[in-house]
Amino acid sequence: MINKTLWGATANEHKRRPVQQGEETCDVVIIGGGFTGLSVAYHLQQRNVKTIVLEANTVGSGASGRNGGEVLIGYVKTMQALAEKYGNDAAGQMFQMSIDSIDLIEGIIDQEEIQCDFFRNGNLLAAYKPSHLDGLRREQEFLYKEYGFETKILERSEMRTEVDSDFYHGAQIDEKSAIFHPLNYCLGLANAVEKYGGTIYEHSEAIRIKRESHDKVIVETNNGRIVAKQVGMFVNAYTTGVHKQIQKSVVPVESIVLATEQLPEDLCKQLIKHNRAASDTKNLLYYFRLSADNRMVFGGSGRTATKRDARMLFENLQAGMVDVFPALKDAKVEYTWSGKVGFTIERIPYIGQLEDGTHFAFGYAGHGAAMSTLLGKIVALNMLNEGDINNPLDRSNLKPIPFHRMNATGLGIMKYYFKFLDYIS
Ligand SMILES: Cc1cc2nc3c(=O)[nH]c(=O)nc-3n(C[C@H](O)[C@H](O)[C@H](O)COP(=O)(O)OP(=O)(O)OC[C@H]3O[C@@H](n4cnc5c(N)ncnc54)[C@H](O)[C@@H]3O)c2cc1C
Repeated sequence: MINKTLWGATANEHKRRPVQQGEETCDVVIIGGGFTGLSVAYHLQQRNVKTIVLEANTVGSGASGRNGGEVLIGYVKTMQALAEKYGNDAAGQMFQMSIDSIDLIEGIIDQEEIQCDFFRNGNLLAAYKPSHLDGLRREQEFLYKEYGFETKILERSEMRTEVDSDFYHGAQIDEKSAIFHPLNYCLGLANAVEKYGGTIYEHSEAIRIKRESHDKVIVETNNGRIVAKQVGMFVNAYTTGVHKQIQKSVVPVESIVLATEQLPEDLCKQLIKHNRAASDTKNLLYYFRLSADNRMVFGGSGRTATKRDARMLFENLQAGMVDVFPALKDAKVEYTWSGKVGFTIERIPYIGQLEDGTHFAFGYAGHGAAMSTLLGKIVALNMLNEGDINNPLDRSNLKPIPFHRMNATGLGIMKYYFKFLDYIS
């Protein structure tokens, strides 16, 4: 099995960008060339704020170019759980933000004519256990009662109207979620940043941030430095030590994905009948969708693996895919890859500005394909002092996670616990 993303193999033209060299000045220097950083740059450049994006590798080489491309409403936790924890008003605002994020992406794709196979056909959240369907029913009632948001519940007997599978015990469907080709969206966003006058450097890692005064910051790279008025760190799970407070506030968790060979069109229409995004309610969840070129893209939970057991992880994932879709038992797997998903301790994204002036947004917990573009826009507005101060995701008083290093190891161990919970729930 090869470690190559389907998205890289089917990408639109990915023009190579120069390495940052020498001293330059700009208004805002943005660290990280994924959805978040590029969205910040895009929204600033539209207001003629001069931005420079520093990307350590290539545009979209982090999670943004290697995710499942499921652009989903909501968060990793249910809205009921969020309302219990943060109150109804804050949760309502958070829910609306998740819908706004997809509207925003759709608008950018239209405006910038980004070819990224964006299909807004909704999401199917499948119940792994009968008891999970009861939970989905409660969430459906809650969403309707509190926000007037309609979703549909499918009984187990109705599942074949949606998927060619008897694996699940029913599902909840929303019609607002979407799928896209994530790398092509990311590349399109990068092209749009440049169209509006922004500069993007690749293979240009930010190695040091030095704050000189409240409106002067210097970001050093290996070959030069940028002098700017403001700086933002948008590196999510791909953090390095360049900003310790941010690094210690996000826990990276491995996720793995496979894509099959191209499948007959008729088979695809059977597998996921309405071309929706799909995932399930397991703690160690599966997520799956079809690609525009008729492959099954199937993802699951990985763990930091040695090369020796990476092969086993993908074999297990393929076996899982066949459990869900027996019709794929002879389908060849042509692409396998992995990436890092960023979690905060609260498992909701964080946005804000630290005391040292650094802006940030990260920790989307597997829901960043949607939320990162919106949070990027909100960061841009904050930089322009036009943001909403009542943002329920604001964590400007960010506290590093205690025993952060142990949390990453702990999560590896937690996976065995989650597996056990999936077994007994
Ligand atoms: C396998 C996988 C599947 C996923 N599936 C889904 C999904 O289906 N739906 C969903 O909503 N979300 C999904 N996600 C999560 C989603 O991809 C992320 O939330 C989102 O892409 C985060 O975007 P970002 O721009 O914040 O971070 P990233 O895209 O990770 O970008 C960060 C960038 O910062 C760069 N960087 C790091 N340090 C430096 C430095 N010092 N200097 C310069 N650059 C630096 C990195 O090279 C990287 O390119 C998935 C993630 C993975 C890994």
